[in-house]
Amino acid sequence: MTKNQKRRLIRIIVSAALFAASIPITAEYVSIGIKFAAYIVAGYDVLWKAVRNIFRGKIFDENFLMSAATVGAVGIGEYSEGVLVMILYQTGEFFQSLAVGKSRRAVSEIVDLRPSITHTERNGKIYDISPEEIEIGDIAVVYPGEKIPVDGEIVSGESALDTAALTGESMPVSVTKSDHVMSGSINLNTVLKIRADKKYTDSAAARILELVEESAEKKSKSENFITKFAKIYTPCVTLGALALAVIPSLFTGEWRIWIARALTFLVVSCPCALVISVPLSFFAGIGGATSRGILIKGACYIETLAKAKTVVFDKTGTLTRGRFEVVSVSPQEGIDEKELIGLSASAEAYSNHPIAFALKRAVCGTKYEELRPDSCTEYPGEGITAFFGNETFSVGNKKLMERLQAEVQNDFHESYETILYTAKNGKFAGYISISDTVKEGAAETVSALKKLGISRTVMLTGDAEGAAAKIAEKLGVDEYKAGLFPADKVSELERLKESEQNGSVIFAGDGINDAPVLTRADAGIAMGALGSDAAVEAADVVLMNDDIRHVADSIIIARRTMRIVWENIVFALGVKAAVLTLGALGVTGMWAAVFADVGVALIAVLNAMRAIRVRGI
Ligand code: ADP
Ligand code: MG
Repeated sequence: MTKNQKRRLIRIIVSAALFAASIPITAEYVSIGIKFAAYIVAGYDVLWKAVRNIFRGKIFDENFLMSAATVGAVGIGEYSEGVLVMILYQTGEFFQSLAVGKSRRAVSEIVDLRPSITHTERNGKIYDISPEEIEIGDIAVVYPGEKIPVDGEIVSGESALDTAALTGESMPVSVTKSDHVMSGSINLNTVLKIRADKKYTDSAAARILELVEESAEKKSKSENFITKFAKIYTPCVTLGALALAVIPSLFTGEWRIWIARALTFLVVSCPCALVISVPLSFFAGIGGATSRGILIKGACYIETLAKAKTVVFDKTGTLTRGRFEVVSVSPQEGIDEKELIGLSASAEAYSNHPIAFALKRAVCGTKYEELRPDSCTEYPGEGITAFFGNETFSVGNKKLMERLQAEVQNDFHESYETILYTAKNGKFAGYISISDTVKEGAAETVSALKKLGISRTVMLTGDAEGAAAKIAEKLGVDEYKAGLFPADKVSELERLKESEQNGSVIFAGDGINDAPVLTRADAGIAMGALGSDAAVEAADVVLMNDDIRHVADSIIIARRTMRIVWENIVFALGVKAAVLTLGALGVTGMWAAVFADVGVALIAVLNAMRAIRVRGI
């Protein structure tokens, strides 16, 4: 309990005690005096806020409604009713703030990535500093049970890491010397020494926290709607109450009855159930998704994801593992196999493309591993040309060969493998065929999406027709387009967006060569992309590991969150409408009204918290 909550509880108890004490007292004025004291103890802050807000021009809020209702009750001589309504209201607020506080804590526990203190080794001594003080190159010492403070490379130690907070993966990951580790994971077994290669603020943990915090600012349409709604709704209700007090009384002359009914009307009309529970539902949904390694950058994207009708995938690294294996090497005359693959790998030395890594893996341990070009030019969606002194060496697809006007000997249009063409000094030098495997869970994801009612699944790729067709068939996607440049992927997505009338278009990619598409989609999902600034920037949803199933999971989570939001809206408005009607007809009194108000708010808050528990496919 916070200090404020404790104070409120004490006030409620004191006020209730005073009220109870006033009941047996027969001297009328003494009894009223004590009740008045009880009223002030329970409600002074509400009255004060109501007065203050009138001067600030924000007249119509719950403080105003409660003050008007209780002052009104006292005005018509219903002293007990006035006091009790205030006590009940405060009790409701008390439980509500307990529930909201608990929910917020639950969400922030899930994204509890921030290390508190860090040990760093400088000149053989260990100092305790805050994570922000770590410089690149510093050695962080992480004891078992502690969180890794910064991203970096292990320089000594061998241990298992709990990366659940980061990736949602519950299995410990074993790490050893020279492995790269991310901040926010927990060291489980033995002491690790880690050389920082980023500052804390650029590290995974800090970036995730930043994204989660920013997400609160990107309001959903429903939230904006509720805010606007509350603004119009409260004055309307106040006018309605006034009308209810005056008009029937003019005809019947029963002022007391109708004013009492109007006051009831005021109490019920409090919109706080919605104002609190709707943002809380989104917050809980985002928190729950984060616990699974799905970072949703704003409540508005929950709405977009929930409305998904077309899901577009990038191929390499998204649907496929992006871990190519070299299948065969076929050099032209004048160059041998080793040199062909060696120069190809060297040409790719500075590239981050999955193909580049495959080639580099293939020459591990040979002299080409160390050979670096003087410079290189990468053509997205085509390949790369590297300069070694006066010589050039190029690796890429057919389009690159056309660009170089290198005459290709074979045409592999029919091949199921991805074919890399190479050219030495602009002359075709042979080809390397590589193959990739479909990601685990990719086919499952496509069929899960169909079950979710996604009407169209599309694969876009820069790879050649043959390789694309094979994968499309294996996965069961509805459509595919091959041979696309990054710019073609954008126009293809625009086309899909135009033809999608009923819902939103989601794009999932790995952030390599597809950042523009990520931005253009209604919601862009970047996979395993925490390493790539461009992708994290461009995407609306960031998957912290590259589990493709999370694409379907994020839609499931979004839909569930939206359902909870609507449950709360319908439930709150439904109960209020019912009690308003009954109150206006005089069936229920002010007590029922307060119960309806605080009870509904409390139930809505508890319901909102269900959004934190997420399930996937
Ligand atoms: P995808 O659309 O499948 O994700 P990209 O757009 O990244 O693929 O690349 C499309 C094609 O361009 C690749 O299949 C490859 O033939 C060629 N390519 C792109 N970058 C490179 C590179 N660095 N080295 C060799 N080939 C490349
Ligand atoms: Mg790609």
